[in-house]
Amino acid sequence: MEIPLQVIHQDLFCPPGQFFIDAMKPADICIVTHAHGDHASFGHKLYIGTEETIAIIKRRMRKEIPARIVKYGEKIRLNQTWVSLHPAGHILGSSQVRIETDCITVVSGDYKRVADPTCQPFEPIKCDIFVTESTFALPIYQWPDSLQVANQILHWWESNAANGHPSLLFCYSLGKAQRLLSLLSQVKKETTVYLHGAMLSLCQLYQERGIAMTNFKAVAEMPKGTCFSQELILAPPSALGTAWVKRFPSFRTAFASGWMAVRGTRRRKALDRGFILSDHADWQGLIKTILETEAKIILTTHGNCTTLAHFLREKHQLDARELKGLEYLEESEE
Ligand SMILES: [Zn+2]
Ligand SMILES: [Zn+2]
Repeated sequence: MEIPLQVIHQDLFCPPGQFFIDAMKPADICIVTHAHGDHASFGHKLYIGTEETIAIIKRRMRKEIPARIVKYGEKIRLNQTWVSLHPAGHILGSSQVRIETDCITVVSGDYKRVADPTCQPFEPIKCDIFVTESTFALPIYQWPDSLQVANQILHWWESNAANGHPSLLFCYSLGKAQRLLSLLSQVKKETTVYLHGAMLSLCQLYQERGIAMTNFKAVAEMPKGTCFSQELILAPPSALGTAWVKRFPSFRTAFASGWMAVRGTRRRKALDRGFILSDHADWQGLIKTILETEAKIILTTHGNCTTLAHFLREKHQLDARELKGLEYLEESEE
């Protein structure tokens, strides 16, 4: 079985298909699994992705891009391969890439297995070769129930409000912010959550696509001098420590991320609270997914690749190895 993938200049290339996947350098043809910055880069001559992924990239880059839109499950011919995209459950439009040569290869992109009403659920695909992300591939990563996390956030917010403190919840702008708005709509009816300006247009894009979320409004829409003492405000992590936060008198801070599962991360960032909410699979989710594919060869990438490959070899006797040489940007948009 020949692996139809190769790493060229730190990017993932498929020689029989003559395309790249999530390349960071400009490519002639690039399949983009999803619109996060460590997967969707500038300057490709042709972007291939789902309608949502392409729409988000355009919104973020604020310009047109040459694109071929592919529906989930639709097979397209790319040179010597048949390629199709399948839901990855990570963020809106996110896909796994299925490549058909003399064998079936699936490149997972980023994925998660827990329910998330802001995107299509992950679709398990049988294959011979499975390329899996391993961002949270350590047994310490075990996600709590997301509605339970939403309730924790609500309690934190309510107790801050009772004491007159605005609640600043930091989270990534694409995927996480919208998932939080969706979760909050399930635990608190008839409320408005305020947003940092950088999050507004992506939340609107999700809203335009019919994703049910709680009401939201930009902080900037409120009159100067509004104290926000009763409010929950979502902002990207980059806003922490900037002048922007100074408009909220005696604010309290929290961060919603998978990284909050590790003690120390929250302290290092000097946050009051950490809520564990991730758009990646946890340890159990990764192992379950890998076994479900029934793949004979597993290539691990993005994160704790060595640990995951070692575990799969030892515990499940799989031919698992690290996919070496890929450029790995720390999940800046987990
Ligand atoms: Zn991602
Ligand atoms: Zn990623």
